[in-house]
Amino acid sequence: MPDELLERLQRFHTDAFPQHRSHFRLLVDDGQHPLTLFIGCSDSRLVPYLLTGAGPGELFLVRNVGAFVPPHDQSRGFHGTAAAIEFAVLSLQVRRIVVCGHSHCGAIRALYGDVPAEAKNLARWLELGREAALPVAEPGADVLRRTEQRAVVLQLERLMDYPMVRERVEAGALALHGWHYVIEDGEVHVFDVRRGGFVPAAQADNAGTGPYVQHEQPGARDGESTRL
Ligand SMILES: [Zn+2]
Repeated sequence: MPDELLERLQRFHTDAFPQHRSHFRLLVDDGQHPLTLFIGCSDSRLVPYLLTGAGPGELFLVRNVGAFVPPHDQSRGFHGTAAAIEFAVLSLQVRRIVVCGHSHCGAIRALYGDVPAEAKNLARWLELGREAALPVAEPGADVLRRTEQRAVVLQLERLMDYPMVRERVEAGALALHGWHYVIEDGEVHVFDVRRGGFVPAAQADNAGTGPYVQHEQPGARDGESTRL
């Protein structure tokens, strides 16, 4: 029985990698300098590189169930997402943080139902979206959509509790972006605090800054505007 995954690895090495060899060489020699921290749901239908057109070295990527942001202030526990936020902001000095939820999100739906009793970590993790849930027992499509979007905004607010994030956002050095990706339409809706809601990318005038950013663009260096 052929090992399909192994075949894919071999194909990458022989067919795809040679086309990118020099680019990866540069990223090794110069190190990575991504401008964007992308916090996305783990859902397999959300493909950040496809959505943004990003290439290697452009996105510092964190994915978890629901695209949730854990609290910064915690005395116990191991939180990969919290560590990634600190690293991206303090060491990589990213200029943007995107929180990207999506339609038909299982994590959001789970806020209205039960999770298996043995999924203790999952049950606890879902608490990070609990405040976004609306007071209905049987959520329809509209309620789920609104909850998905409310959850994105909730995570943006929690990001502002990270001192290094707040400091940089207030200084205009970091922008927060809330996105909701509608899988069936192939369109991201961006959170626009001035309009008070999510706006389809086709009708948006920027990539959707979060609720606390006053400036239009993070301070652009030469050539930066075309990069993520
Ligand atoms: Zn999801």
